[in-house]
Amino acid sequence: MPLELVTVPCLEDNYAFMLHATESGETAVVDVPDAGPVLEALSERGWQASEIWLTHHHWDHVDGVRDLQEATGARVLGAAADAHRLPPLNQALRGGESCRFAGHAVSIIDVPGHTVGHIAYHVPDAGAVFTGDSLMALGCGRLFEGTADQMWASLGKLAALPPETLVCSGHEYTLSNARFALTIEPGNPALKARAAAVAKAREAGRPTVPSRLSEELATNPFLRAGQPEVKRALGMEGAEDAAVFAEIRRRKDAF
Ligand code: ZN
Ligand code: FE
Repeated sequence: MPLELVTVPCLEDNYAFMLHATESGETAVVDVPDAGPVLEALSERGWQASEIWLTHHHWDHVDGVRDLQEATGARVLGAAADAHRLPPLNQALRGGESCRFAGHAVSIIDVPGHTVGHIAYHVPDAGAVFTGDSLMALGCGRLFEGTADQMWASLGKLAALPPETLVCSGHEYTLSNARFALTIEPGNPALKARAAAVAKAREAGRPTVPSRLSEELATNPFLRAGQPEVKRALGMEGAEDAAVFAEIRRRKDAF
């Protein structure tokens, strides 16, 4: 049973995603920054949203939920931990649990850091993980609510997924993320190649999301805090991985 994945640009630089089960006709929409572009993308394909999966409570991921739900009657899924500040949920999810979508397994992964109730949705049959503002293309979300230790642990869970997994994250920040990444690892050949490819894609107006987990592992400085060459570059040999991650995050906040 194939699953089709579509990226939907919303607002200035947000992304929603649609996951469509071709046999059952069901469609899950992941995050709804704005209902308009999502409804348009659905109707272009003759699809109906049956479920809405929320990664976290920020307005730029949930503001379109009400309109999309009114237009489609879709069920809304989100983190139990944040049920009090998410749009009303039809199903409250906890990290470590699994649910099903059109007969396919969906694993819920707790990824606190950007917010404390942030979750990711891993769909092995689609080879995709929906990460919202946790792991992003060449970056990770700011630590608005959680700690660096929490985010480092969250990124570790995502890094352990199969390397061919598509990372479907919530924003088109990749170009500026690449500029920052090069300040951490200016000599990383995979990063230099990726930064050039990202610049070219953006010049052509193409999205750089989703990205491949394998390329994140090779180039994303936030995933690479445990690498000896990164520690050396920061003068932090012997430091704990999480402390190196915290330093990279601090530098990015000031970048
Ligand atoms: Zn956010
Ligand atoms: Fe966001």
